[in-house]
Amino acid sequence: DVVNRHHRLPDRLLQILIELQEPSGWLPPATLTALADALGVSRAHVEGVAGFYSFLHTEPVGRYRLLFSDNIIEHQLGSRELMAALCSKLWVEPHKPSEDGLVSVSTTSCIGMGDQGPAMLANGRPVLRLSHQRINQIAELVRQQVPVSEWPEAFFHVDNNIHRRDAMLQLDLAPGAALQAALALGRAEWMRQMQLSNLRGRGGAGFTTAVKWMACADAPGADKVVVCNADEGEPGTFKDRVLLTTLADAVFEGMTLAAWAVGARQGLLYLRGEYRYLRPTLEAVLARRRSAGLLGRQILGKAGFDFDIEIHLGAGAYVCGEETALLESLEGKRGTPRIRPPFPVTRGYLGRPTVVNNVETLAKTCLIALEGGAAFAATGTAQSTGTKLLSISGDCARPGIYEYPFGVAIERVLEDCGASDTQAVQVGGAAGIMLASYEFHRRIAFEDVPTAGAFMVFDSSRDLFEVARNFVAFFAHESCGFCTPCRVGTSLLLKAMNKLADGHGAKTDLADIEWIDRLLKNASHCGLGSAAPNPVMDTLLKFRPAYERRLRSLDFAPAFNLDDALAAARRASGRDDAAAHFSADHAPR
Ligand code: SF4
Repeated sequence: DVVNRHHRLPDRLLQILIELQEPSGWLPPATLTALADALGVSRAHVEGVAGFYSFLHTEPVGRYRLLFSDNIIEHQLGSRELMAALCSKLWVEPHKPSEDGLVSVSTTSCIGMGDQGPAMLANGRPVLRLSHQRINQIAELVRQQVPVSEWPEAFFHVDNNIHRRDAMLQLDLAPGAALQAALALGRAEWMRQMQLSNLRGRGGAGFTTAVKWMACADAPGADKVVVCNADEGEPGTFKDRVLLTTLADAVFEGMTLAAWAVGARQGLLYLRGEYRYLRPTLEAVLARRRSAGLLGRQILGKAGFDFDIEIHLGAGAYVCGEETALLESLEGKRGTPRIRPPFPVTRGYLGRPTVVNNVETLAKTCLIALEGGAAFAATGTAQSTGTKLLSISGDCARPGIYEYPFGVAIERVLEDCGASDTQAVQVGGAAGIMLASYEFHRRIAFEDVPTAGAFMVFDSSRDLFEVARNFVAFFAHESCGFCTPCRVGTSLLLKAMNKLADGHGAKTDLADIEWIDRLLKNASHCGLGSAAPNPVMDTLLKFRPAYERRLRSLDFAPAFNLDDALAAARRASGRDDAAAHFSADHAPR
């Protein structure tokens, strides 16, 4: 049934796997074989895709799969202790299913709930504001085998936590109003307004949206595609979650505005697996828009303007936020970033010219359609027009969503969110920049501190070495493994950080870290690898004492105790004399 519903198309493989896994929580070998036969692809291909995504399982993982969000902010709120408490109450080891196949307790990368953590996913549904009391309740519900769908609704309540609104979050869009305005302008004038606005992509890279759209419009080929990247996986960011919750119409209308500009007929919204709870609401908005003539054939009565949108789910792979990896994933494959050129605007989804824009970027185009490009550009700075949504979490009184005109100073943001005694701010997530207090005069803007939206606050009680170590672990976990420098480099970096954390570090390890930084920056295939050392290099530069106080020696120090490593050989040989020890210092006296 599932396969037929997807018309037996191999490019639906990921969506099919997600659906097939639904009833039992895993994909048995026979299912993979049958699926390969049904789609006419190799068994190895199906298994390769199933093995790539962390939310797909080719071995049983328990009827209850509880995944704690592994974000540093949530660690600081006690998520590790809560996870240990839950494991002990359920008598399970972390990261291993229980012997009776009932439950597994593990971790996953940030689930986009940093403003209301600690949080977990329970069979894919976010459970928020975890406390010891809530953990006790969850343990009891699992023991009683109460289905997750019958757990108290309060567990799943997601707050929007909007604390500061500007143009975007004040928008009260009558569905179709922005589209009507753009259609009235005509396609060429609508594109001119987009140029005037100088809107830049809000996903982090900051590429000019109108340039992207024009390149796609000019690309040969009639079957163009608009893709909305709703895979916000950067630790600490959650503004797209709020936009999809509160302004879904603006996001879909933005996709339709893009389709009108480039001449696309097909739209795809790639929703990160962690946000799949939003899907029913988003599908309802799409259905309403279809009934209102805002999607489908002859949109708003315009002959030849046919466009519709479909939602595809991700399945827990950070790298799919990179636009070419996202396209691979949309095509049902492993999310491996492509070699560029060709760029997606000429060869994107299934080889067709494709515009890929972030959720916030697309929603912002509604403002441009309604107010005009010049009015949009009047806010912000010369190179960063309009406003920016920030996802604020960490050591502040009011975590949540704040919208500011570009150019706002870090110190102003800290004041507004009720932060005090701030030691550092990580802007832009794990791949971003860590700012020390002497940099708080700097401004959020592409020409100064660019960000996709994450803004994590650390007060003076926090150990910034541990913050950097968490980010390094994140990159090592999320490396897609395609290229050796990143696959090996991120692991080496994590090993070096763990060695320092274990108290075996030496100055040579700091030199090694700098060497790995150069390797990752120069030889990685995509931005994940080249950004992986950023948090370490930033903290080493600005908070070096956090590293140096961990050094055991100024010279080489091994990552483990060499004498202990010889213990097994001593036992086997029955020797314990001085020559059987690493050095005289270790020998028995
Ligand atoms: Fe994959 Fe890392 Fe290479 Fe990017 S840099 S392609 S994430 S292995």
